[in-house]
Amino acid sequence: GQRPQGGGQKPLELPDVRSIITVASGKGGVGKSTTSVNLALSLAAKGLKVGLLDADIYGPSLPRMLGLRDAKPKPSDIDGKMTPPSAFGIRIMSIGFMIDEEQPVIWRGPMAMGALEQLLRDTDWGVLDVMVVDMPPGTGDIQLSMAQRVPVTGAVIVSTPQDIALLDARKGLNMFRKVNVPVFGLIENMSYYKCPECGHIDHVFDHGGAHKAADELNVPFLGEIPLDLKIRLGADEGKPIVHSDPDGEHTKAYGAIADKIA
Ligand code: ADP
Repeated sequence: GQRPQGGGQKPLELPDVRSIITVASGKGGVGKSTTSVNLALSLAAKGLKVGLLDADIYGPSLPRMLGLRDAKPKPSDIDGKMTPPSAFGIRIMSIGFMIDEEQPVIWRGPMAMGALEQLLRDTDWGVLDVMVVDMPPGTGDIQLSMAQRVPVTGAVIVSTPQDIALLDARKGLNMFRKVNVPVFGLIENMSYYKCPECGHIDHVFDHGGAHKAADELNVPFLGEIPLDLKIRLGADEGKPIVHSDPDGEHTKAYGAIADKIA
């Protein structure tokens, strides 16, 4: 469809990438990166060729979450392109491969966008059915440029059930609407906590907020993921739960969401 074009710049073309799904959130810390990783793995488990781009230029966390802290992209056979590291059968590109983990990224917007464009364009992604993009939190320059310059197929928004987080997610949703990026729907992360001993369920951050907001905003509710130690450990140890526990209930929950978006 027609998109407003920013700054007279040409849209980026990625002819070998069939679809691009961005994973967004209103604020940081809601589990956007964890969700991106597990959704990417679920899509790959469906037999799709998947790539994962870390667009969170100021806080790249995908190398750690995928056990690739020491990985580096390598020069490829294709002129000027890099072969990205891969893990669990998916190709991953992140600014985190190029910079020291302890060094903050202090670039201004245009510079960050330039870096992101290089990661997109100068990577040998191969032929991809889906590229999953872990966006930075919020609605800044990067989000706007991505929406305007990259042919995004659709966006999913990750939110915790809390009202404040939801308010921010609404802002994000309105931004996608303004730039004509279809919104696939909302995912509620950290939805509830189930005691592993007795099975009692606690709604730590309230419950159902994202579902209610999805109804109000007239976008699909894609599913809920509980707060679970195994999800946290998997992310921190570079062994995402969808990989380490392929028959588990969380893997099924991520899989059900993957079915709705691809
Ligand atoms: P964001 O990308 O939104 O900043 P992250 O994906 O980095 O958030 O997650 C923030 C922290 O919360 C990480 O330590 C991660 O392991 C943890 N986390 C995310 N989702 C869950 C979950 N469903 N259950 C338990 N811990 C989670």
